[in-house]
Amino acid sequence: MDVIREFDPWHDPLCTCPRKYGLNPYTGCEHGCLYCYITSYIPRAFECRPKHNLIARVERDLKQIDRSRPISMSNSSDPYPPIEAKLGLTRSCLKLLAQENCKVQVITKSDIVARDLDLFTKMRAVVSFTVVTLDQELSRMLEPNAPPPERRLEAMKRLAAAGVPVCLRLDPVIPFLNDSGFTNLVRAAAEHGAKHVTSSTFKPRPDSWRRMQSAFPEVAARLRPLYFERGQRHHNSWYLPRELRQKLMGDIKRACEEAGLTFASCREGLAGMNSGASCDGSHLIG
Ligand code: SF4
Repeated sequence: MDVIREFDPWHDPLCTCPRKYGLNPYTGCEHGCLYCYITSYIPRAFECRPKHNLIARVERDLKQIDRSRPISMSNSSDPYPPIEAKLGLTRSCLKLLAQENCKVQVITKSDIVARDLDLFTKMRAVVSFTVVTLDQELSRMLEPNAPPPERRLEAMKRLAAAGVPVCLRLDPVIPFLNDSGFTNLVRAAAEHGAKHVTSSTFKPRPDSWRRMQSAFPEVAARLRPLYFERGQRHHNSWYLPRELRQKLMGDIKRACEEAGLTFASCREGLAGMNSGASCDGSHLIG
């Protein structure tokens, strides 16, 4: 297959996602998040380019996929970069996937997603909104070109009000930066219609670590021993010590319980803590 690809073809033992596919209508992502990992494997990763001849390629791939598996849009780019408002590539893909009755999972930081409400209400889909803080200034520093958190929450509310299942992706959690205020963030998501929360701690690679270090030198000085002395390496990423990850995920799980939401951690080796029927919210797809 060409543009619809196996998700996690390396079968990372820490990944608890159901078997699914990934589809990125765009190469690279303009949101330019400091913590993003795509810069470790995509050249010019923060320049968003539409994929050539995408719709014909999706049509071809659709003939080969296993229809019981969800298609995740997207994991190496946001499917709703600013240029999507003009090009509508993601919208064209969704139309095709809806026609073929595919199960779709959308993960985004953009309120442009609400434009496609008419499609989502007629298809099997779940939409996850990544929000890592309600603090506008911190969000602007961490996710410089993404819409502010309140616009994401407003879009979440619009979709939920129309009956589209929505989730919160609180990912990544970065100690000393956004490791407090979980209760307010999770409560806000619940009030805007979320049913499930997926969370994960920051797992730096050399490039994302350099960006964090340059934007937040004092925080990086406190994080350094946690990752590089007491933490552990898994594949190309560094992990916080397990007990700290367990504490952070435990705090978020408690906030979810208080707000009446299910919870799951992502790639933490803590699947025993999960209360949702899937980690990624795909169980909410109708
Ligand atoms: S929205 Fe996602 S893919 Fe895009 S820069 Fe941010 S973390 Fe990376």
